Amino acid sequence: MIEAIEKLLAIQDKDQRLRTYRLELAAIPTEKTTKERLIAEAASRLENARTRAKEIEVQKKSLEVEAASKRDQIARYKTQQMQTRKNEEFSALSHEIDTVEKSITQIEDREIELMEEAESLKPQIASAEQTYAADKAKYEAQISTLGEKETNLKARISEMEEARLKAASEVDEDLLDRYDRLFQTKNAAAVVALEHEVCTGCHMKVTTQTSVELRAEKSIISCPQCGRILFTPA
Ligand SMILES: [Zn+2]
Repeated sequence: MIEAIEKLLAIQDKDQRLRTYRLELAAIPTEKTTKERLIAEAASRLENARTRAKEIEVQKKSLEVEAASKRDQIARYKTQQMQTRKNEEFSALSHEIDTVEKSITQIEDREIELMEEAESLKPQIASAEQTYAADKAKYEAQISTLGEKETNLKARISEMEEARLKAASEVDEDLLDRYDRLFQTKNAAAVVALEHEVCTGCHMKVTTQTSVELRAEKSIISCPQCGRILFTPA
C-alpha cells in the first residue's frame, strides 16, 4: 500500500474515533438534564401529596371553627327561647335551631370526608417518599457516572487530538487538505476500500482501468463517482 494512504488511514481512524467521542460528549448534558428532571418530578409528586395533606388540615380546622361558632349560635337561640314568653318567637327560634343543626351535620359530614381523604393520603405520601428516595439515589448515581464519562471522554479526545496532530504532520499538506474536505463532506469516510471493483464509499462499480491503476500503486487514485480516495485492502 502507498505509504501516504497508510498514513491517511491512520488519521481517518483517529478522526472517526474523535467524531464518536465528541458526539458522546455532546449528548451528556441532555442525558444529565433528563435525570435531573426525573428527580424533580419525583420530588414534585411527593410535594403535591404533602401539600394536599396540609390543605386538608387547614380545611378541617376551619370547619371545626365554623361548627363551634354554630354551636354557640344554638346556645344563644336556646337562651333567647328561655327568656321569651311569646309562642311565635319560641317556634321561630326552634326553626332557626333546626336549620343551624342541619348545617352542623353537613360540616361534620365534610369533616369525616376530609379525615378519610387524609387517611388515604398517608400511604400515598409514604410511597411517594420511598419512590423519591429511590429515584434520587438511582439518578444521582447515574449523573455521577455521566460526570465520570465526561471526564474520560475529554481526556481521550485530548489524547487523540494530540496523536492526530502528530500523524497529520507526516502527511503532505495538499493531500491532507483533500482528505479533510472529503472527511467533512463524505460522511466521515474519506479513504475507502475497493472491494470486487466496487467503491465501499458509494457502492458503485469502478472501471477495470481504475482498478488496475489502483493495484499498480503508482499514484493516489480516487473513485470517479464519489471522489473518495481508494485503497486495496490487504
Ligand atoms: Zn465511490
